[in-house]
Amino acid sequence: MNKPLPELLLQRAQAIPGTVYLVGAGPGDPQLLTVRAARLIGEADVIVYDYLVASSILDLANPAAECIFAGKRKGDHALPQGELNLLLVTLARQQKRVVRLKGGDPYIFGRGGEEVETLFEHGIPFEVVPGITAAAGVACYAGIPLTHRDYAQACVFVTGHLKDGTINLDWPGLARRGQTVVIYMGSTGLSVLCQNLIAHGLPADWPAAIVQQGTTPNQRTVTGTLFSLPRLAQQAQLTPPTLIIVGEVVKLHDRLAWFKEG
Ligand code: SAH
Repeated sequence: MNKPLPELLLQRAQAIPGTVYLVGAGPGDPQLLTVRAARLIGEADVIVYDYLVASSILDLANPAAECIFAGKRKGDHALPQGELNLLLVTLARQQKRVVRLKGGDPYIFGRGGEEVETLFEHGIPFEVVPGITAAAGVACYAGIPLTHRDYAQACVFVTGHLKDGTINLDWPGLARRGQTVVIYMGSTGLSVLCQNLIAHGLPADWPAAIVQQGTTPNQRTVTGTLFSLPRLAQQAQLTPPTLIIVGEVVKLHDRLAWFKEG
């Protein structure tokens, strides 16, 4: 039989009716949930989740809880953001214990700030529970330390989401040695990203990787260079979500990848 969780982990007050909990679900592996996230999911009356949340995580919910899909796959917004924000307000006013469950960390490319602002404006009590963001979780499972004394003293997270077909990023700031660049939502723009990093000074043979569905049984890592990665990624026919990691730390993957893929 499992040992009960130590008292320290159980102390916090239980979910309060009428409160919205904005909870990070981590990158996929349910074991990467925080203890607080797992408890709140189990206590919720209603869970509003987006597409990055694994079904195995929703299995932790009370069978009587209502689970509402909020969408958020690219180009498929099941609920427009404004309506979603107001839905949270409505559910809280019905004195439900509401968990708004988001992939990774709610405050990293997750629009968590916008949702909480609406709650604040409507006087709804809320709490935010951090989660393991894709960069941290996926890099670990892919055997790529994001910083390393020999290779990278800084790490930046950027979104590669294309707006009007162009990516507006600080290219000179990104094309730096001694730095790791992690790109969320970058698969469509992978070629443009790699070309721009080369154009702004990084060598064509600078290491780069793309990881599909990191931390899940479907994880696949493709490594290459800024020059070769777009072609290799296309050949591999990766399925989303994917995360791009650029920097010399990618060289460590061959030796440090511990998670069995496929
Ligand atoms: N709030 C989330 C990020 C939301 S943006 C977080 O903190 O992780 C969605 C993007 O995150 C995806 O397009 C992808 O680039 C990345 N992502 C999330 N989960 C991932 C996973 N398991 N594997 C690879 N990339 C992932």
